[in-house]
Amino acid sequence: MQAPVARVLLSGEAIARRVAELGAEISRDYAGRDLLLVTVLKGGLYFLADLSRALTIPAAVDVMAISSYRGGKGPSGVVRLIKDLDEDVTGRSVLLVEDIIDTGLTATYLVRLLRARDPADLAICTLLDKSARRIAEGLPIRYRGFDVPDEYLVGYGLDYRQLYRTLPYIAVLDAERAAPGGAGARVR
Ligand code: 5GP
Repeated sequence: MQAPVARVLLSGEAIARRVAELGAEISRDYAGRDLLLVTVLKGGLYFLADLSRALTIPAAVDVMAISSYRGGKGPSGVVRLIKDLDEDVTGRSVLLVEDIIDTGLTATYLVRLLRARDPADLAICTLLDKSARRIAEGLPIRYRGFDVPDEYLVGYGLDYRQLYRTLPYIAVLDAERAAPGGAGARVR
């Protein structure tokens, strides 16, 4: 695929190796528990699909959809729930599976929402951690795939204006060659 990328950050093979490691770790930690994997449409789907298949223990999966508002000056933390979970999380071990955590404001909203429903426990597994940009404190990030630099990434679920999610690797977007984006509400 001809995609406007400046450079590949993580190859498909590197992602697969790390996902296998995370799957093994989660399988050990959650053995014997009622595990529910939750992700957010649409970016988290790719990671969830691979991570769930790397597990050697039973797990249920569910998805939610949100819209987040990004103002011209960056994230505002204003999040709206568009599609709720089908599953009841009460008393279950919930693992929030995220593609990327940037400022952490979105994850903070999701953690608050899920905790209010009384899960037995709640933790986060994020494939990518843009930790240099973190604003939110105290997120229960128990598993992280890779720490990534403060650059706009596409591929493996991450989009630029709904394109390039389907790339099998993660790359830095070439802003020069990509069409300019605008501020406003977006469904992820
Ligand atoms: P946060 O609330 O942590 O600032 O933002 C999290 C969301 O911002 C992610 O779930 C993702 O939708 C978006 N995001 C943050 N960094 C990137 C990036 O480098 N590339 C893409 N495509 N989306 C990103």
